[in-house]
Amino acid sequence: MGREWGVDMVENTVSAKKNSERGEGMAPASALMATYARFPVSFVRGAGTRLWDDAGREYLDFLAGIGVNNLGHCPPGVVAAIAAQAGQLIHTSNLYRIPLQEQLAQRLVAGCFADRVFFCNSGAEANEAAIKLVRKYTQDRDRGRERLSSGRFEIITTLNSFHGRTMATLTATGQEKVQRGFEPLLAGFCHVPYNQPEAVERAITPATAAIMVEPIQGESGVVVPDEGYLPALREIADRHGLLLVLDEVQTGMGRTGRLWAHQWSGIRPDIMTAAKSLASGLPMGACLATEEVARSFSPGSHGSTFGGTPLVSAAALATLEVLLDQGVLAEVSDKGAYLKAALGRLQHRHSMIKAVRGQGLMIAVELNSPAEEVLGVCLSRGLLLSCQMGTVLRFLPPLTVTQTEMDQAVAILDGVLTDSF
Ligand SMILES: *Cc1c(COP(=O)(O)O)cnc(C)c1O
Repeated sequence: MGREWGVDMVENTVSAKKNSERGEGMAPASALMATYARFPVSFVRGAGTRLWDDAGREYLDFLAGIGVNNLGHCPPGVVAAIAAQAGQLIHTSNLYRIPLQEQLAQRLVAGCFADRVFFCNSGAEANEAAIKLVRKYTQDRDRGRERLSSGRFEIITTLNSFHGRTMATLTATGQEKVQRGFEPLLAGFCHVPYNQPEAVERAITPATAAIMVEPIQGESGVVVPDEGYLPALREIADRHGLLLVLDEVQTGMGRTGRLWAHQWSGIRPDIMTAAKSLASGLPMGACLATEEVARSFSPGSHGSTFGGTPLVSAAALATLEVLLDQGVLAEVSDKGAYLKAALGRLQHRHSMIKAVRGQGLMIAVELNSPAEEVLGVCLSRGLLLSCQMGTVLRFLPPLTVTQTEMDQAVAILDGVLTDSF
């Protein structure tokens, strides 16, 4: 990998991050709002699993833009599709038909439970659409039945979930640190422990309309539920007349070895959201639903200026073509098993590693101690990962990652744990 930065650089990196997380130190060096604790690195070029910074140092990107660059950086098929489409037509309003958007929707629904898609620009927006659709569908259904509103609007979500940063989605998110300072939160959400179907059942009231979960919790450190969890939620939802909403923003698009993570469980949700790698790094979100539920969105119910423009739709179509037709998805489970086994072997050698877990290429190494400094040293040795919940190192490499690159990444982490901790 690239040159070592040296210890000073690592220490500066870690303390700069700590200071900025505390909101102190470091005179503002830019005109940006301080919403991110950024590492002092900037990348100028990427190809596949590799990135190069402005000093020419090379890095292995095992975070992939937090699960966005699932096909690696600048995948040629997607780059070509974007370039061609940009030269032909970038944007038209959703007041007109957009054939590429319709083709994309067709391709997305062909392989899953859904019949209809709404396109937007991010994971949070996809979840906003899902939340609005839950409320609208539930009102429409109950008004039909009871000739008045049933007062059912509440959505049960889980503790330590992550659903986004808008007011509705941060309320859905079961993390106080995301919500603090933004009260009053939106009405109509309650949080229960993850991976406990009985907790969902206990939380149901006459106001409950839906259950919303991630198939694997990503931001809280790759928390994989028991195999029976999603089927149990489906059963509870059916028994109580609730919608089941799955947030596949991080788990979707092949990350776990199936196109959508819930497909491992065999169940069908009523609504599902996607974003992150949908268009390989151009902003795109999607809310997918069954015909029965989707019918509640009619002209004027919801909308987006940019959702599903020709440019981003072309990028997403090319992404699906590479992922599905060129065999990338088919290799994810084997690659994930390889990486997880290699990290599992590290666990035998380093008592600092408490657990290795994950599915497909969504993997966590949980440490017995803070992971932030390990992360900083990994960065200085050319390996990008993220730190979750203080002690978890998260691996989200491109699905196109090679065995050699996985070996190199594991060797870097091995060296970091051996030399520095
Ligand atoms: C990243 C993420 C979101 C939010 O997506 P944005 O595009 O940042 O709004 C929502 N849900 C999950 C599970 C995510 O991982």
